Amino acid sequence: MLRAGRGHQDGSSEERMCWICLNTDGGTLHHDWLQPCRCRGTNKWVHEACLSRWIDEKQQVNPDAPVTCPQCYTEYIIVMPPVCRFDAMLESVERTYCLLCPSILMGMLATVVYMATLSYGALTLHQIAGYDTSIQLMKEDPTFLLIVLPSVPCALLLLRRFDWDNWMVRWLRRQHRQSVASEHYDEQGDLLPGAPLTDEYFDSLEPVDEDEMMQAGTMNSENIERATCRVCTALSLPTFSVLIGQTLYGNVNSKLLSIVLGAFTFEAVKGLISVYLRQCQYYRRRYRSVLDYTTENVQMAGRTI
Ligand SMILES: [Zn+2]
Ligand SMILES: [Zn+2]
Repeated sequence: MLRAGRGHQDGSSEERMCWICLNTDGGTLHHDWLQPCRCRGTNKWVHEACLSRWIDEKQQVNPDAPVTCPQCYTEYIIVMPPVCRFDAMLESVERTYCLLCPSILMGMLATVVYMATLSYGALTLHQIAGYDTSIQLMKEDPTFLLIVLPSVPCALLLLRRFDWDNWMVRWLRRQHRQSVASEHYDEQGDLLPGAPLTDEYFDSLEPVDEDEMMQAGTMNSENIERATCRVCTALSLPTFSVLIGQTLYGNVNSKLLSIVLGAFTFEAVKGLISVYLRQCQYYRRRYRSVLDYTTENVQMAGRTI
């Protein structure tokens, strides 16, 4: 709320012009004019409504920020209606609550994640050690319960960083390098136009490393799919290890050993299948050819001319 001290009492001789809307005296009521700063001349006048709107614009980010005249830099005297103590207290409580909300939410999310990892760890322990042993372990040792169990899924995810199948794919690709014949190069050693595609080209089509893939396309659907696959595989490892261990290595004396063997078998089979499929796709793309449009070729492709 703004009130001019003497705004409408003096100067009836000069013409007033609002520096915001540039309208002059005509039709404006006397008490709608303000003279809120040290400016002189016609510039000193402004409509109260215009200035109010202008102050609101300036205070959009911070409603308590001081606002000054853009010409003489006088800070406007802005007087707010008095606020009673109760209202002020309510306001400050609300502001504090709003400030705390993000932290509260983060805390809740962290708790949910922690509880999920804890349950997963407990489930895994139960699968591997059996019901009685796992309950006994959890009862006896609270650190084991509160720290070791939640770190089980994290450890499994970290273990996935060791990607031997990628290493194998890279090795296989290195075994089958096909250099482009020297006749396709010019004197400077650059490829001539129309020269066959190089190994490097096909490598770039199918990056082997996860990190390379992530760089290639930061967050496309393929990468998200790959990442979810990774997480699922990592988290299902204990279940498959127990299942395979019991099925294939049931006659091994130690249960733990059978589970470890099961884990290795699962990893090996899964990895080999993935390597095989990736090599299949690679070769299919590498040896793809486009034929000339001749009668024979058209007949071979089963098309009609
Ligand atoms: Zn105006
Ligand atoms: Zn001014």
